[in-house]
Amino acid sequence: MKKLENKIALVTGGSRGIGAAIVRRLAAEGAKVAFTYTSSAEKSEALVAEITGAGGEVVAIAADNKNSEDVAGAVHKTVDAFGGLDILVNNAGIYIGKDFAEHTIDEYDQVMDVNVKAVFVAALEAVKHLQAGGRIITIGSNIADNALKPQTTLYTMSKSALQGFTRGLARDLGPKGITVTLVQPGPIDTDMNPASGDLADFLRSQMAIPSYGTGEDIAGLVAFLASEEGKYITGSWVTVDGGLNA
Ligand code: NDP
Repeated sequence: MKKLENKIALVTGGSRGIGAAIVRRLAAEGAKVAFTYTSSAEKSEALVAEITGAGGEVVAIAADNKNSEDVAGAVHKTVDAFGGLDILVNNAGIYIGKDFAEHTIDEYDQVMDVNVKAVFVAALEAVKHLQAGGRIITIGSNIADNALKPQTTLYTMSKSALQGFTRGLARDLGPKGITVTLVQPGPIDTDMNPASGDLADFLRSQMAIPSYGTGEDIAGLVAFLASEEGKYITGSWVTVDGGLNA
């Protein structure tokens, strides 16, 4: 039997990058997977076709993390499609990096809505459906423990908030047999942080293993935390950053 057979998962921001790798891995482990996207409709269709073609069950849901009704709606659509929810993966995130003095309130709202508020909203809806053995897994960032350089204040603030979310909610849900964990990637080669981007050489110079990771490096850990083997890990996080924070 596959590790996640009969489990139902929702992954936010599953159309590209780390989220798409998580969708593929959870489906390969036997889970039925719903994922959200905002702009990448074609990539989402292609991912659905790929997984369905391999015998998996998957649905793509257009839902913007900036809109709380969309986020709650994605939970409802997952339950409607597959009959329940066992695993919520809060992956969708955005990065706006610039000198602090140049930030706008609108940028604050965007980053905090997508990276923090939507995580809260998704969990609030998910707990109506999660049973014992349920999982809430959020994708934070190694930057929550090491801001590394100037121009990261807003993003660092948003990712640090996820540590408090993880600690607090673990206490609420532990007695129900539901775990709450945080995965903190370091440099992972995606559209958000390409291995050939402007920051890449600086980041590599700070790492114990001086090369970028892949979405699969994160997806493998998410699958482990989602499985039975992860049942005693809660209220804490694992940083997967090639030793950047070492
Ligand atoms: P990408 O920019 O490559 O992909 C982002 C994904 O999130 C896409 O599927 C995108 O959907 C979706 N998304 C973006 N905005 C929204 C929104 N408003 N509502 C719903 N979905 C949205 O990012 P990564 O894969 O690199 O990052 C994934 C997570 O990992 C993020 O939380 C990020 O902060 C975190 N992270 C990434 C690191 C890295 O080095 N890559 C390092 C540390 C943390 P669409 O395609 O439709 O736009």
